[in-house]
Amino acid sequence: MNILILGSGGREHAFAWKMAQSPLCSRLFVAPGNAGTAQIAQNVALSVNDFEGIAHFALQQQITLIVVGPEEPLVRGIRDYFSVRPELSQIGLIGPDKHGAMLEGSKDFAKAFMRQNHIPTAGSRTFTAATLQEGLHYLSTHSLPIVLKADGLAAGKGVIIASTLEDAKESLYDMLANKKFGEASASVVIEEFLSGIELSVFVLTDGKTYKILPEAKDYKRIGEGDIGLNTGGMGAVSPVPFADAAFMQKVEERIVKPTISGLHEAKVNYCGFIFIGLMNVAGEPYVIEYNVRMGDPETEVVIPRIKSDLVELFQVVAQGKLADIGIEIEEKAAATVMLVSGGYPEAYEKNKVITGLAQTEDVLVFHAATKTTADGNILTDGGRVLTVTGMDAELENALQKAKKAAGVITWEKKYYRKDIGLDILQYKSI
Ligand code: ATP
Repeated sequence: MNILILGSGGREHAFAWKMAQSPLCSRLFVAPGNAGTAQIAQNVALSVNDFEGIAHFALQQQITLIVVGPEEPLVRGIRDYFSVRPELSQIGLIGPDKHGAMLEGSKDFAKAFMRQNHIPTAGSRTFTAATLQEGLHYLSTHSLPIVLKADGLAAGKGVIIASTLEDAKESLYDMLANKKFGEASASVVIEEFLSGIELSVFVLTDGKTYKILPEAKDYKRIGEGDIGLNTGGMGAVSPVPFADAAFMQKVEERIVKPTISGLHEAKVNYCGFIFIGLMNVAGEPYVIEYNVRMGDPETEVVIPRIKSDLVELFQVVAQGKLADIGIEIEEKAAATVMLVSGGYPEAYEKNKVITGLAQTEDVLVFHAATKTTADGNILTDGGRVLTVTGMDAELENALQKAKKAAGVITWEKKYYRKDIGLDILQYKSI
């Protein structure tokens, strides 16, 4: 079959790498893709939000499966666009409809969904400009630290953890009265602070049944020791040693099952991934957030751990027949390190020549923001440039492999964290 992947990051390169291995895959396209995807698929110069252009291309190339990488086209309703046009409705699309995508697109919607389905999460209330005074009063009656979240998509910047009442009030005022994040902060969720260790659980569903994929832990901050500014993610590991069978059983019973049945009851057309951001609070799982797509860089450790044919999995998801097949998981550990442009997540330079890609050993290299020049050089094309994933029976060795390769690949002002995964080595390995 002919397949189109939408997106241009490491997540999409990892999907393309895995799907290209399937005997079911005839032609593989990535829109818009990057220098890495260009080596295994055909890049197409289309924006992920250009639904008309995507539809036209899909019909022209007889695409039968579209995998949506990022959240924005889902929140804007790409599935709804495809499902109302008879000539497109036969194309399988991996990603939920606009209603389902609100789990990520609106934090207030996600909180209401969790309350309704008795899914464990931090206590919260939502305020708007009209209820600003009430919100300020609410803050003063709650313990610190306290979490304020812009309701809509704010590129990972819309969450503030305030440790003083003054900070909390100022942040609330900024978001609601000064519209700090524009429409995204027209509503603000004020949430109780949860203290624990974070991890992410990924679910693939056809809306009726589900498969739990390998879990992962990511590292969000720019600095070693997980300090400094938030980023899109500086590395990830899978499995997560403290997510043992007893914990995962709680996650499945208390969170995954009621999420799937809640979506089904709400008549959401949900074919695709659910990314559940969790806090492990003294052994009890609480949902921090839902995302309606895979994470990046978590995909770069989760996908290499799936032994099953990903195209076949997507095919049965699109057909509503996920119950018919099993999923095989690789027992090895995977660790990925993100290589970024110096200065990221603040100002950084692009167009630096990358060297050493051919000298790496025993790792998977997934490009996140790269481009190829006419003379064959590969250049940096963004803040997060590429990831290296090491795999081994021992997490420690997987980390070593990734770090070694991260040192071999180079460009002017390259930066990466050397402490990814070290904090969890204290837990028993797989
Ligand atoms: P991202 O895009 O980076 O995932 P987001 O904008 O979707 O972030 P959340 O995931 O809800 O927002 O929150 C971002 C981070 O803030 C979380 O990963 C977690 O570290 C922290 N956080 C969020 N809610 C809480 C909470 N209730 N208690 C403690 N920490 C929290």
